[in-house]
Amino acid sequence: SPRLYGQGAPCLRGPEVSAALEENPMRIGIFGEAEDPQCLAVAREAAALGADALLFDSGALAAGRPLSLLDGRMFYLGEPVDGLRGFYLRTVPSPYVPAMERDDTLVLYEDWFTTFAQTRERAAYVLSWLLQLEHQGATLVNGPHAASMLQYKPFQLHVLRSLGACVPRTLISNDPAAIRAFHAEMKDVIYKPVLGGALTRPLDAEALERLGTVTASPVIFQERVSGEDLRVMLVGEDIVSCVAIETPEPHLDFRSDPAYRAGQATYREVALPEPVQRFCREAARACGLRLAGIDLKHQGDRFVFLELNSSPIYLDVELKLGHAISRAIARRVVEAARP
Ligand code: ADP
Ligand code: MG
Ligand code: MG
Repeated sequence: SPRLYGQGAPCLRGPEVSAALEENPMRIGIFGEAEDPQCLAVAREAAALGADALLFDSGALAAGRPLSLLDGRMFYLGEPVDGLRGFYLRTVPSPYVPAMERDDTLVLYEDWFTTFAQTRERAAYVLSWLLQLEHQGATLVNGPHAASMLQYKPFQLHVLRSLGACVPRTLISNDPAAIRAFHAEMKDVIYKPVLGGALTRPLDAEALERLGTVTASPVIFQERVSGEDLRVMLVGEDIVSCVAIETPEPHLDFRSDPAYRAGQATYREVALPEPVQRFCREAARACGLRLAGIDLKHQGDRFVFLELNSSPIYLDVELKLGHAISRAIARRVVEAARP
């Protein structure tokens, strides 16, 4: 039966967990939100492989629960955590807080700095611990460096380009003149943020009107690539799933489709040519990713890479098509934990 510690609140009940760990040395760590369905799915698959999963609630510090690093030894909710060699990192603690919330409303003009500073300190603490685990030889899927730093699209495009993979013509700039020249040459241009967090939009007449605002921070401008949207799930060296995302209506960004947003997207399996598979593996490796959700545009025999995601959401595909993604992740993590 699956044994998962740390699910729900209160998280770890100390003595229980210590006893269980003595009993079963094969244990993996999972770092994420307490009720995250992907965390639970990976924990279940790990249990099926004979491993106990310790769920570290990424919200524990924010909730004021006790964590202590005593001379380098982690005490999570008062209990020592030793010998973790495999780890699924679902949530990347971010030192950058995009918006401040209190009681579910945005707090933009009040005392945001205190929250910001505390969040940054908490992220630094957790990231240090995760880096320490990696330094001690644990395998993190994904490692905190790869998960946070290398998720930058401009760097990923560089990696893909240098491998010889097909990427869209791209300008990343805060220079209105350069952007106008790019637009004049490419005609059909889209734009999206460097770090993410917004839908892709067309560089149309109305957007060109507002081009002056771009001096504040650079934006990604790309040739608009036609074709269907593919999502590739790569775990280690294995392509575990490759699907086309189908929405009732065509969209520039499929996430703006109401059916998709309502969880009604459908998926169709797509076979990737060997050279494209190789680009996936090599790009992930170059970005330090052991797990990646890779986005491509596909039309005919043209496969154009858009980005690699270090903590992809995949459960919908797993449930609808029966692709064993959680199992592949669990296997990769448990492999590392095997004594
Ligand atoms: P995000 O991190 O926001 O998912 P993506 O680069 O994957 O960033 O862009 C989101 C979606 O927008 C893509 O899945 C695709 O549907 C659309 N998109 C992004 N770039 C282009 C492009 N150059 N041409 C056509 N569609 C694009
Ligand atoms: Mg994407
Ligand atoms: Mg992304």
